[in-house]
Amino acid sequence: IMLSMSSGKRLEIYGIVLDAGSSRTTIYVYEWPAEKENDTGVVSQIFKCSVEGPGISSYKNNPGAIAKPFDDCLNKVKERIPAHLHKNTSAYLGATAGMRLLRLQNETAASEVLASIQSYFRAQPFEFRGAHIITGPEEGVYGWITANYLMGNFLEVSFNFDGKNLWRTWVRPYRKETMGALDLGGASTQISFIPEDSQDYSNSTLQVKLYGYEYNVYTHSFQCYGRDEAEKRLLALLFLGSYFVDNPCYPQNYETAFTMKSLCGSLCTQSLRPANYHPNQLVKFHGTGDPALCQEMVSLLFNITACRDRDECPFNGIHQPKVKGNFVAFSGFYYTINALNLSGHFSLSDFNSSMWFFCSRSWLHFMLPKFEETYARSYCFSANFIYYLLVHGYKFDAETWPQIHFQKEVGNSSIAWSLGYMLSLTNMIPAERKLIQLPLKP
Ligand code: AMP
Repeated sequence: IMLSMSSGKRLEIYGIVLDAGSSRTTIYVYEWPAEKENDTGVVSQIFKCSVEGPGISSYKNNPGAIAKPFDDCLNKVKERIPAHLHKNTSAYLGATAGMRLLRLQNETAASEVLASIQSYFRAQPFEFRGAHIITGPEEGVYGWITANYLMGNFLEVSFNFDGKNLWRTWVRPYRKETMGALDLGGASTQISFIPEDSQDYSNSTLQVKLYGYEYNVYTHSFQCYGRDEAEKRLLALLFLGSYFVDNPCYPQNYETAFTMKSLCGSLCTQSLRPANYHPNQLVKFHGTGDPALCQEMVSLLFNITACRDRDECPFNGIHQPKVKGNFVAFSGFYYTINALNLSGHFSLSDFNSSMWFFCSRSWLHFMLPKFEETYARSYCFSANFIYYLLVHGYKFDAETWPQIHFQKEVGNSSIAWSLGYMLSLTNMIPAERKLIQLPLKP
């Protein structure tokens, strides 16, 4: 770790995290002061850049081509960090569900993708700490750490005078609970929160010790329930042999075509491949903007076992503790809510009426520069998917729904697993509480 003297007295340290998601790679640059007692909520994001093109798992047939698109963002990163600090700035790359799926499908291809990134970083000035595929539970817990770290839910400063010396320490904020975290990526979705009683869920509970306190975080990552993979599953379900298909979740008058490979090539849709599967065959989809039918089709994507008490019905074979307290819903959850012209927290009926209105609109309403086509055509699907996931999957109801806050950042720092990942790998959140003696002023 190197200290910066460039900005006068203030000393800064920088860290870089590459979030290699299934649909894209996002690069984050974090900065924090180098003072001794800096293990507090002072790390902030100073720069964010989305790498052009798809996520790294899409380069499975051509790993050599991964590197080039990184250049643009990395050149900007280099401008943000003083040049003499480059070689001492750590860079971490974490890959998520897109790569977890690729590794399951073709381990060699996944290793080649990671090796290609590794070799690209050998020619970069930063201290590259490796390209790793993180697990679903890690992704969930790092997101939870980020959200609560940024919201200041872990710490509060406290001063104590013992008659002789003045001490400063950190305490858990009085009456402030941690928030649950809901993350919707392209290939998986994560839920993490502190349940009423974690004992019954010990297999899905991670014990995290931060600043002297233990937190038992329930976490689960649902593979193939990411927004993009779920939509592929819908399109593959709608395909019933005809090459011209009505899609009730696309806006009226919208038309597009996909190859069979792009629908059924993923591990999540492999079982939906038709008997006469021709990877390059085109299938045309035509939007009918039919909210009721869209809702019905989306429900078919969920594997929820019927049982006596709705709250106990397992989702994808998983028994989950009852949701508790406030939640923050970020990434894919946020983008969709924002597109529906909603923000923060609101009632379930407000969400439903926005969704209905949006789903009935014709494509004409979306042909505005503010919408990108691939996202805009799918907002109705995404909204229905989010509804079903939150209400039937996680069992939020009209009463608990307003406890979900749809939010993408705190200050200017994104809520994403990346910050929690870096804080953990650099040991920036100590497990133990520290007592710091302060000088007594006369
Ligand atoms: P990411 O934040 O990159 O992990 O993306 C999470 C999910 O949100 C993926 O399914 C993306 O396709 C989707 N997404 C990313 N950006 C947008 C956006 N501007 N509008 C709607 N969806 C988005």
